[in-house]
Amino acid sequence: MNLSLLNTAKKGYFGQFGGQFVPETLMPALSELEIVFENMLKDQDFQLELKDLYQNYIGRPTPLYYAKRLSQHFGKAKILLKREDLNHTGAHKINNAVGQALLAKKLGKKNIIAETGAGQHGVATATACALLDLNCTIYMGAKDIERQKPNVFRMKMLGAKVHSVTNGEQTLKEATSESIRAWVSNVENTHYILGTASGPHPYPLIVREFQSIIGSEAREQCLKTYNQLPNYILACIGGGSNAIGIFHAFKEDKSVKLIGLEAGGEGVNTVKHAATLTMGSPGILHGTKSYLLQDNFGRIKEAHSISAGMDYPGVGPEHSYLKDIGRAEYFSVTDAEALEGFKLLARTEGILAALESSHAIGYLSKFMPETSTDDIIILNLSGRGDKDIPILSQHFDF
Ligand SMILES: *Cc1c(COP(=O)(O)O)cnc(C)c1O
Repeated sequence: MNLSLLNTAKKGYFGQFGGQFVPETLMPALSELEIVFENMLKDQDFQLELKDLYQNYIGRPTPLYYAKRLSQHFGKAKILLKREDLNHTGAHKINNAVGQALLAKKLGKKNIIAETGAGQHGVATATACALLDLNCTIYMGAKDIERQKPNVFRMKMLGAKVHSVTNGEQTLKEATSESIRAWVSNVENTHYILGTASGPHPYPLIVREFQSIIGSEAREQCLKTYNQLPNYILACIGGGSNAIGIFHAFKEDKSVKLIGLEAGGEGVNTVKHAATLTMGSPGILHGTKSYLLQDNFGRIKEAHSISAGMDYPGVGPEHSYLKDIGRAEYFSVTDAEALEGFKLLARTEGILAALESSHAIGYLSKFMPETSTDDIIILNLSGRGDKDIPILSQHFDF
């Protein structure tokens, strides 16, 4: 396979996926963003400033931790956890929020908008805006505002405005549509910090760039400590940013199998799941072409997952492409399996994982028997579970 093809023959596309399906009024902003982003990649000062924030503010590099008791539980491959849960604000999302906030400064834009579902990207964005002195407005569905009160309060404490979105299902899909609308009306002085590796070009590339630190660190750490590349990379998939962040550095290492785990909800044979790549079909949502959950008329279906961060009917275009060319494989993990994963990690390693990341752990019971004792797995532990305590408390009986 010619892997340079992964970087699109047609600009802004990954095979048939990606593109810029946006109102005409946004095209100048996307072109400007693309130019500033390309310059940023070569800009020494920008790179140094970003590196400093990654190290001294976010707390990078995150450890690549050998989970010995978890590995012993299965008696097969060695499981290494990439500890994104140890980042400031508790997940990988801050890598992208800080990077894009810095980019907004370069664009000379003082106002930031962002969408959020569970509030994790909202909190990361509000954090980056407080740090870099930018005005922050977060669009959030009214239903999510009700369900995620602690995160709403966090954003407000950080100085952000939280705008309640009251149409449709009042969740992430509507919040994203509303952010795009707000951007169209204020594009002159506003940068939209999209939270996952999706949306119109150049967003999937921007988000991948800022998240790819996960994979570059992990690759180097693994080679240094174990003198070999891992055999498998496992990551959960909502929109796909933590997964593309860890996959990217390994894409050209053909021996490394890339595996993405999406939300199987109450089962992919029910209507309550968010298994976009395994159960969806190609279509257009929020400015990009990708796999989607839609009906025969192209109407977007409501997604479901126990974890709010996986509850999205779309997915990034690059994952859609990696699936089609067979470079990565995608499987679904149910709510129940994710909860089992959560409990297993808590009891073997003393780590409370985010419910999103727990999908990757929940997949291990199916997957580990296929592995051998010489194999190495790196699992991206995308975030910590404190935010999920209200939901988790309904599923634990002590
Ligand atoms: C938001 C979130 C996800 C899902 O988003 P991706 O863009 O697919 O990474 C996964 N894990 C955590 C902890 C999150 O907050």
